Amino acid sequence: MERQVPILNGNGFIDVQSIPQLICPSCGKIITVILLSAFDEPLDGKRLFIGYFSCCGAWSVISCNQTGKKVDIFASWQIDPYYPIPHKYFSSTINRISPQFETIYNEALTAQKLKLLSICGAGYRKALECLIKDYCIHLHNDRKETIIKCDTGVCIGDNIDSQTVKEIAERAIWLGNDESHYAKRWTDKDTDDLVEVISFLCKAIEQDEERKQLLAEMPEQKKK
Ligand SMILES: [Zn+2]
Repeated sequence: MERQVPILNGNGFIDVQSIPQLICPSCGKIITVILLSAFDEPLDGKRLFIGYFSCCGAWSVISCNQTGKKVDIFASWQIDPYYPIPHKYFSSTINRISPQFETIYNEALTAQKLKLLSICGAGYRKALECLIKDYCIHLHNDRKETIIKCDTGVCIGDNIDSQTVKEIAERAIWLGNDESHYAKRWTDKDTDDLVEVISFLCKAIEQDEERKQLLAEMPEQKKK
């Protein structure tokens, strides 16, 4: 399989005679990389390309050890140490309630993608605590000082009125605590379950906010 890869910062193409198979930096599968573009100037005796991993939609700088306009089948390829940083976007409702949540969540997500599996859960736990406390302050701004100092579990019980949000938040914090404490209680659940419950909690908060907005706009039936 041969491909002419366009040069990103110049004119013309690099003629690649054999498309490399590399390990996806995101999921670890070996796949045939899609070469999107090449860089004109070789760097440290290497030709740099941008490779796309269709399995995960991840991309990375990859390089080969041949620097001419033609790369033959004997070239050896490798992924550049540059690592694409994952990012999960949350709704404007969640970002308005908790401006720090998305940042902390994505630090934990990056740690998880880098296989830092013993510590990423504690990161998700911190993001979760931030979301829950900010949500409680959003509901009861007058209790802000108490909420900041209070245990997160107690905060949930004292400040969240929606039964649905409360039930999910409690379970999220149970799993979150398991990620940062010495002994696990929920031994059949793991970090992925925590991630799922956080996502579930965000949806419940969004729905409750939408419900409140609807009731505020239409408090009662209009008279005929
Ligand atoms: Zn992948």
